[in-house]
Amino acid sequence: MRWQNLSAGNGESAENTAAPGLFGLDAVTRTFDTPEFRGITFHEVRARSIVNKVPGASRMPFAWTVNPYRGCSHACVYCFARNTHRYLDLDTGHDFDSQIVVKVNAPELLRRELAAPRWEGAHIAMGTNVDCYQRAEGRYQLMPGILGALRDRENPFSILTKGSLILRDLPILEQAAQVTEVSVAVSVGFTDRELWRRVEPGTPSPGKRLEVCRTLNDHGIPCGVLMAPVLPFLSDSPEQLRATVQAIAAAGATSVTPLVLHLRTGAREWYFHWLAEHRPDLVPRYQALYYDNAYAPTWYQRRITRQVHALATEYGIGPTPRPHPEPTPQPTPDRHAEEPPAPTQLRLI
Ligand code: SF4
Repeated sequence: MRWQNLSAGNGESAENTAAPGLFGLDAVTRTFDTPEFRGITFHEVRARSIVNKVPGASRMPFAWTVNPYRGCSHACVYCFARNTHRYLDLDTGHDFDSQIVVKVNAPELLRRELAAPRWEGAHIAMGTNVDCYQRAEGRYQLMPGILGALRDRENPFSILTKGSLILRDLPILEQAAQVTEVSVAVSVGFTDRELWRRVEPGTPSPGKRLEVCRTLNDHGIPCGVLMAPVLPFLSDSPEQLRATVQAIAAAGATSVTPLVLHLRTGAREWYFHWLAEHRPDLVPRYQALYYDNAYAPTWYQRRITRQVHALATEYGIGPTPRPHPEPTPQPTPDRHAEEPPAPTQLRLI
């Protein structure tokens, strides 16, 4: 990778990056010798544009996004955004977790783009690629400026996050909600703390994320839960699903939307690498479930959805249409459409 010659130094250090082709000559690479940022390198860049049009062919339920960061120190093993680091000449594993691109001019750029005559005030989704409330946001503080720009233009927006840092911006969110449509979803796929430590090592705990959900709703910011990802054989037992939905209900979530793990290129290699190290016994079962597709079979996805919706009804959460950006499960080949007659048959595939 292109930045290996950087020295971490003591305290803060910065130098011009050696990747002008990717980030421009004025890009700065910075490290901070504090416990929360140790081992992380930040690449501060000045983006040329910040409101991104989602390609027409996309199955995403939104058309415009704003992403002030690339890479995510929350370091979820399964993260579907990992492959985006490949385009930066970085790897999709450890580099994705530790080489973070920061678009330092995002707030001013957004303010300018929202004021452009051609901008028609469409909904903007954030947290759709990587988490805009990852740890870097604590230092760079880009989101207050971004939210302020959206508020001032009365531009509707939504945020998906695992970060409790969003509560720092509660006053601006409340102001925005007075003048436009604002919604938030926190992502909590399971409440098993042992599993959390192993697969989402850089994130606030599931309990903390659910506290965020409660606080936002208490302050009039509608917040649902994207129950994602449900991890086959790791977080999908009836007891685990029940415990998770029960906790989501207790947090006062406006909705719960389950989403089963999907493993596209980048995430797939890293997840299987993790699985081989931590749960080698599950590798054959995952190979069977995902062997010719990035998505789990339709029968499996339907089963989880049915179970979660039934639990949501039991605990008084209304399953609503997908409230927040996440990829829709991909159509799968016909062989995946039916539930297999017996588990033993599945293992033989
Ligand atoms: S918080 Fe979201 S963007 Fe960040 S690593 Fe986890 S799944 Fe990826």
